[in-house]
Amino acid sequence: MNIQKILQENGLKATKSRVALIALLEKVDQPVDAHHIFHQLKDTKIAVDLATVYRILEKFLSLGIVKQIDFREGKLRYELAGDHHHHLVCQDCGDIKPFHGKCLGEVEKVIEQHYKFRVTEHILEFFGKCQKCQSGKTI
Ligand SMILES: [Zn+2]
Ligand SMILES: [Zn+2]
Repeated sequence: MNIQKILQENGLKATKSRVALIALLEKVDQPVDAHHIFHQLKDTKIAVDLATVYRILEKFLSLGIVKQIDFREGKLRYELAGDHHHHLVCQDCGDIKPFHGKCLGEVEKVIEQHYKFRVTEHILEFFGKCQKCQSGKTI
């Protein structure tokens, strides 16, 4: 992924903090919240404060560079947009796995036919128990 190009295409200057934020989202294997991003960037010596992280996220959101996800934790998480998928969230250990399986195309077709409603987006997350937590073992 060419971060400079993404920013350029969206009319944004490739500031250190913007580049670092996208690089971080590219690296993590699950959606992260603003505090996590803030601490990670601080650790890599990027001069940034929490307000700036929120400002960049807002900007990226409005441009469709990132997606905001609500796992009902009282905070929002973010991930790079583009790759449509859902998540499996373990309510015991908090593990989050992306799910790239069959999507809701059929359901959307029914909605469009029966309700004459044009679906442009859907949000779908799964909550439950991961395999590890089902077995009750701590690994
Ligand atoms: Zn679990
Ligand atoms: Zn979907």
